[in-house]
Amino acid sequence: MCQVRRYTLIGMDPLDRSTIWPYDERGEPGEFMYQRYGHPTGVAAEQALGRLDGGTALLFSSGAGATTTLALFLLQPGDTIALAEGAYFGTGKLFEEFARWGVRCIEFDQTGPPPDDVQLVWLEAPANPLLTMPNLEAAAAHPATVVVDSTVATPIHLRPLEHGADFVLHSVTKFLAGHHDVLLGAVVCKREQEAEALRALRTRTGIVAAPDPAWLLLRSLETLPLRVERQTATARELARRLATHPAVQLVRYPGIGGLISFDVVDGEAARRVETSTRLITNATSLGGVHTTMESRHRWEGDRIPAGLLRLSVGLEETDELWADLEGALSEV
Ligand code: PLP
Repeated sequence: MCQVRRYTLIGMDPLDRSTIWPYDERGEPGEFMYQRYGHPTGVAAEQALGRLDGGTALLFSSGAGATTTLALFLLQPGDTIALAEGAYFGTGKLFEEFARWGVRCIEFDQTGPPPDDVQLVWLEAPANPLLTMPNLEAAAAHPATVVVDSTVATPIHLRPLEHGADFVLHSVTKFLAGHHDVLLGAVVCKREQEAEALRALRTRTGIVAAPDPAWLLLRSLETLPLRVERQTATARELARRLATHPAVQLVRYPGIGGLISFDVVDGEAARRVETSTRLITNATSLGGVHTTMESRHRWEGDRIPAGLLRLSVGLEETDELWADLEGALSEV
């Protein structure tokens, strides 16, 4: 008789795409019954991410979806959000939409204490693309709820819940998933009760993660420390070399993570540099295994310097990346 063998890789969770699971013999739902409420692959990925950040993780369909749901969860009409200056511009744009529901958003310098009379403090570690680091101690001393978008730091460099944050947000799309093939977001909650209520709101909104991206996150987490350590080591060295280059006016690098911003003289020079690389891909987003670079001015306008280039360091050899950057910078 032919025997069907099942090979199971230790540590690999199966991908379950079911949208429904049967009720039990008494007609009662079990842990899973309808995918929007939760699914086994998502729960496995949430447990893995929760362990990394030291809290209860919930996945969403994107980082922006996680931001939307968490903001809906935390805010009331009349509230004010204090948002870190130089943070991801999409977060600021989203918060502007909330003005229609009576929620105000002001920006502040996150290296100092948040302003008084705000109900929500939204930090980025580090801010994308200005790359300032938040003053977590000052934020924790503020009476408002504190959210830290730790997309760039990742739990390898920072666990904000241990520094007084109430919630951590990740665009999982970036370093956590890390291969330019997943769109996903996450919120990590300090308190289980809030996680339960946020999970219920997520089910109502439908801003949920599908099983396939959740499974890809599980795959990616297996290599997260290796990738982030290598990306950080390469970024440190490139930041050091960029600081000595005559065409570079300013290097912004907080010393952790794989993201560097550097300024050349103006927007025209930035456009020449970004279109002159061979190894480095001229594309948006960050955190993947391939190095990407773009001028952010095209998206963010005068909010940032016209000559700012954002470089997301991948896994290529440092010297090859430097040779490519030097070649592109010689065009300025
Ligand atoms: N937070 C940060 C710091 C980001 O850079 C981004 C995206 O660029 C987001 C949130 C939004 O994430 P997503 O693109 O996964 O919706």
